[in-house]
Amino acid sequence: MLDGALKLLKELTEHDYKAYIVGGFVRDYLLGIDSQDVDIATNATPKEIKEIFSDVFLPTEDYGSVIVNKYGVRFEITTFRKEFNYQNHRRPDEIQYIDDLYQDLLRRDFTINTICIDENGEIVDFLGGRDDLERRLIRAVGDADERFEQDALRILRAIRFATVLNFQLDSEVVEAIRKHRGLLKELSFYRKKEELDKMFASGYADKGIDLLLEYHLDKTLELKNLSKVENTNSVIGIWSVLNVEDIYPFSNNEKELMANIRAVMTLNNLDPMALYEYGLYVNSVAGEMKGIDKKKITESYNRLTIHFRGDLAVTSEEIMECLQKKPGEYLSDIYEDIEKEVLYRRLPNEKQQLLTYIRKNFASSS
Ligand code: ATP
Ligand code: MG
Repeated sequence: MLDGALKLLKELTEHDYKAYIVGGFVRDYLLGIDSQDVDIATNATPKEIKEIFSDVFLPTEDYGSVIVNKYGVRFEITTFRKEFNYQNHRRPDEIQYIDDLYQDLLRRDFTINTICIDENGEIVDFLGGRDDLERRLIRAVGDADERFEQDALRILRAIRFATVLNFQLDSEVVEAIRKHRGLLKELSFYRKKEELDKMFASGYADKGIDLLLEYHLDKTLELKNLSKVENTNSVIGIWSVLNVEDIYPFSNNEKELMANIRAVMTLNNLDPMALYEYGLYVNSVAGEMKGIDKKKITESYNRLTIHFRGDLAVTSEEIMECLQKKPGEYLSDIYEDIEKEVLYRRLPNEKQQLLTYIRKNFASSS
């Protein structure tokens, strides 16, 4: 990935532009963590970048970023800029393209996100980012108080980086979080969820939750159940405890999944009926949150006598014929009953025995 990124930098510098890798890739590279994409900072404008690279995607031209996919890597190329007039504690109302890397670094959030790599692979570090990386410290660029007031997302980004990287928050950052936590209300639930998802997916999710609770962000984030989260093995498991589908955005599938997880939390996840009705995945997530070994749940699931109604050794036609009846509601009652008998091994899943049972128990009721 670094090789591809250096080649891309060379293409820009050969056209007499300044260009650096910056942000998450450099930070993670120095920490030995793989990155998904690479952020590039340059003095070339989006229009000029478009003249150099053929396959350019301009998603947010107003903000000076273009996407280039090359060498199997996704590059987000952002023109050096200054930002003015932050609106609603989130976005600058106005940006100005500039020629100077140093000035561009000053508008970035944390020192660990300002370390650059130039086209020769040399580190460029104006703001002491490497020291902070070594000290494992989240320190704001400039005055934390002012920077968090400008853009409240930085509050959540601070906690996200402290969580994912298992870093410490600088004392000024902590103070600014405490002071401006109310501003989180101004952010969209979509943005907040993006950050929370990254925290919850991290191996240190429990630390993230502790930080959110410590600074009372559960209130401003409207996560009233946050203190009830005990197990952080599964992101969807955490969200189902939080139970905030009415305000945070989720797909219909996720909503159904979370409702099911909540339903099986109160059941015994090794019970055949719970496993049969809700399936392996939902029970595993709930079981994991309750500290039940996933292997045990999988074994119990695999040992079920049937996994679907279609696994029963009788068909609807056979039941109707045996009872001499036309189709009707009664069929689902019979199914539910024999499913239970077979799942609890009180009846073998064998055609003749099932039909005998059905005749004996359901023949008289019309
Ligand atoms: P990751 O990609 O792992 O989420 P990242 O630090 O690369 O982390 P991006 O959202 O890709 O995050 O942003 C790239 C860079 O842009 C950051 O490293 C930082 O320098 C700057 N940046 C991003 N968001 C902000 C913000 N809200 N305020 C100031 N600077 C920001
Ligand atoms: Mg990035």
